[in-house]
Amino acid sequence: MKSSGWRPVIWAREERGMERRAGSPSHEGEEEEKKAPHPGPLPARRGEGGRSRCALDLSANPTLCRLSVGVWLVEKPDPGQLDRGTGFRVVPRVRASNNAGSERCALRIILANPRGFCAGVQMAIDVVDRALDVFEGETVYVYHEIVHNKHVVGRFRGRGVVFVESLEDVPRGAVVVFSAHGVSPAVRARAAERGLTAIDATCPLVTKVHSEAVRYAARGWQILLIGHRNHQEIIGTMGEAPEATQVVESPADIPSLDIRDPSKLIYLTQTTLSTDDAGVIVEALKKAFPEIKAPPSDDICYATTNRQHAVRRLAPGVDLVLVIGSTNSSNSVRLTEIAESAGTRARLLDDASMLEEAWFEGPGGRIGSVLITAGASAPEDLVAGVCRWLVERFGATLEVAHVFEEDMEFGLPATLKQAMRARGIDPAERRIRVRAPEITADAYGAVPLTVSVGRDGERQ
Ligand code: SF4
Repeated sequence: MKSSGWRPVIWAREERGMERRAGSPSHEGEEEEKKAPHPGPLPARRGEGGRSRCALDLSANPTLCRLSVGVWLVEKPDPGQLDRGTGFRVVPRVRASNNAGSERCALRIILANPRGFCAGVQMAIDVVDRALDVFEGETVYVYHEIVHNKHVVGRFRGRGVVFVESLEDVPRGAVVVFSAHGVSPAVRARAAERGLTAIDATCPLVTKVHSEAVRYAARGWQILLIGHRNHQEIIGTMGEAPEATQVVESPADIPSLDIRDPSKLIYLTQTTLSTDDAGVIVEALKKAFPEIKAPPSDDICYATTNRQHAVRRLAPGVDLVLVIGSTNSSNSVRLTEIAESAGTRARLLDDASMLEEAWFEGPGGRIGSVLITAGASAPEDLVAGVCRWLVERFGATLEVAHVFEEDMEFGLPATLKQAMRARGIDPAERRIRVRAPEITADAYGAVPLTVSVGRDGERQ
């Protein structure tokens, strides 16, 4: 840990009365905090330097066992380390197991923010939703899963939507929605040939990568597309310039690449990759082809980056990470891997029905804390269901760890807007906006006790 630039924030809060209590940490070279701030974003005071190792041993104090206690360290990183949308990195440095191993303490649930739906997924879901209204009485077909989540797909199936893997399964002249992952020009052309009303719900951030591929291929450049060969997004992007594009799944693929002119070479990436994994491949490509060009702006999208960084920050401080998402969701799988590479056990699950009590047992008894996050295609009600299960089973307490604030807005696809106007519906009001979900006791089983350090705290 760095010895300067860290500032510890110690908070303690009684579970029921929300009363402020003092923590009694031991800091080498730092003054003890005498009073914990409450409520709202935690103010942070700059430490006096020295080593910022904090230690709390609550097991010795039965009174503190009833408290939610934690220590968060706020670091001002080098400018190059700044994550999008934030000026600081927030890291829980003390294992948040209030008296871990004791059956007397409640399990702490830490909800990572941001988590779950991104703007692209929300847009794709809204598109199908609106299409069902706008084309009332007609069957709406969706080419591939609209997003990679079995609950989202199942709920639409229940409303009559038909998912197809081939456009040949869509009757001529019918309405078809292209999924958030994007399609190749060949699929769009085939839809036109069949006279389909095609509504393109491709995420604009995927479309951006398509445009880069088209632009560079038109200039005679070769494209190295980093990603998973069989993922719908990679198939769609590859289809924009198949002659110019080669897929790179790992550094092991590099020796077999066919490169005509290393000075006209660019790499692009799948939007939902792990930033760490992609970084390893990019470094290997740079070593092999020093002149390779980076994409004009990051291809790994804001939502992927932010959810991954939140897990990277928070996972080291908990005993278990639960990632809500489906196994075919690339970004959900990556979140699970990132938690594990941070040294914390992690489970990927679709919903609360997959929870097992044994996951919450550690070597010394029940674990003390669990971080919950969700892939970009996982509905928030599934997160709430998992929280309720934990509150009911273990009397768990809830905290929200705000690492990034997101407020992203996308518009509806042009084809859908045209169809809405043709039916007298004004699409101007139908913007898609994603913000942090509201947490209520009814939905989650409890209200959050603590809001951890966010932007306000960072500025202090
Ligand atoms: S994960 Fe990113 S690229 Fe994919 S739909 Fe969401 S915002 Fe778009």
